[in-house]
Amino acid sequence: MISDNVRVRFAPSPTGYLHVGGLRTALYNYLFAKANNGTFVLRIEDTDQNRYVEGAVENLINTLNWVGLSYDEGPEKEGNYGPYFQSQRLDIYKKYALELVEKGKAYYAFDTPERLQELREKQIAEKLQPKYDKADLDLSPEEVKQKLDNGEPYVIRLNVVPGLRVTVNDKIRGLVEFSTDTVDDQILIKSDGYPTYHLANVVDDHLMKITHVIRGEEWLPSTPKHVLLYDYLGWEKPEFAHLPLLLNPDKSKLSKRQGDVAVEDYKAKGYLKEALINFVALLGWNAGDEKEFYQLEELISSFSLERVHKAGAVFNLEKLDWLNFEHLRNKPENEVLEMLKSELKASVYSDKEFTDEYLLKVIEAMRERVNFAKDFINNSPYFFEEPTSYDETVVSKRWKEDSPVLLKKLSDEFEALDNPTKEDYETALKKVAESESAGVGKLIHPLRLAVSGVGGGPGVYDILVIIGKEKTISRINKAIAEIKP
Ligand code: GLU
Repeated sequence: MISDNVRVRFAPSPTGYLHVGGLRTALYNYLFAKANNGTFVLRIEDTDQNRYVEGAVENLINTLNWVGLSYDEGPEKEGNYGPYFQSQRLDIYKKYALELVEKGKAYYAFDTPERLQELREKQIAEKLQPKYDKADLDLSPEEVKQKLDNGEPYVIRLNVVPGLRVTVNDKIRGLVEFSTDTVDDQILIKSDGYPTYHLANVVDDHLMKITHVIRGEEWLPSTPKHVLLYDYLGWEKPEFAHLPLLLNPDKSKLSKRQGDVAVEDYKAKGYLKEALINFVALLGWNAGDEKEFYQLEELISSFSLERVHKAGAVFNLEKLDWLNFEHLRNKPENEVLEMLKSELKASVYSDKEFTDEYLLKVIEAMRERVNFAKDFINNSPYFFEEPTSYDETVVSKRWKEDSPVLLKKLSDEFEALDNPTKEDYETALKKVAESESAGVGKLIHPLRLAVSGVGGGPGVYDILVIIGKEKTISRINKAIAEIKP
């Protein structure tokens, strides 16, 4: 046993943002840790100097914090197995690489980039899988020493013995077999002295006592190299679980071209973290029933690796929108109020004042009609300003020759009301309809158009009560003056 306690890690290479696929990996690790009373480690795999991006780590940590996946050990949460930045552990990797050289499981290679390029082209021309030809495996210890003393650039490569079988008992994919014939003599230490992903990843998973490696399927082809490393170093292997690929609706691999892949883009578009977490959880997992709406706590109690699917998971934005709608509906009123206030601050209505009481009424009327907090404004601007235009199709369909006269009668009737309720407005409207021998529709539709500028929305009397009698009347007058059928 590596450890009595479950220890898992999310090990991103900071590329500048958190990919939704990365969020899924982080989430499944988090859920597995929480469900098993385990520890969730964040390890930053920053050994590729060419890919260094300023601010990437901060951005990643901020995004994880925003979605609420807090880690137990990692940057700024030092545990017993730090540092948690691979760039701060270079000596450790070097030590194990040298141990492998010592055991004959790895070797120095001094090839020039030109020779490697030639070798590759030749193999491709011969329709062979490009692989290192082990040329420098034959160097004697004296020759190696000589070259090192001369300061010749070198790498350290894994010495893979061909003709062997490597098996991985993956918790999701079952038994996966590889032949070492297809495994290259992987570079472990690069010429800049940094380790490659493979060496650093295995060394750290071992030293950090990781019990389960849960990661995307794209890493499955690397796993035989990792298994060989564990075996050569004489270490017990963790369990492996490779998560299914994320696919575009056309079943191609999820790509930037077909939409947003950065979690922060979804945040900027106004998606709730609860909806995003819920959505991502369902990309490759379900509890075996029809349930789709989950809060994080419920996910912790329902999640299991056994129920993660093998087949690729299709990224369906309609479902995300639906989940956003559901989570928004389920949020406490005062949270929605704060969201609406901050949307208003960022909107063209930023210098207008609305009381909490007023905004809460808008929320109540609109809640079933919005997917996003910003929709309260976009879908019903009439709660924040009088109509600046009138929907032309509604005008041509609903605004009749007698509409101005009828609406004038209606506004006179409304004028006489004292602090009217929904029912008062309704009674007044019916009264006018009757005295004018008109159907109520002849009044209701032009009235809605006058107060909102559009043909749909919440109940018209609800709108009247929210905006109040004074605005109702002034909007009716404005419509009478401005609408030209
Ligand atoms: N650094 C790798 C990545 O960027 C980690 C893969 C793994 O979890 O082993 O995803």
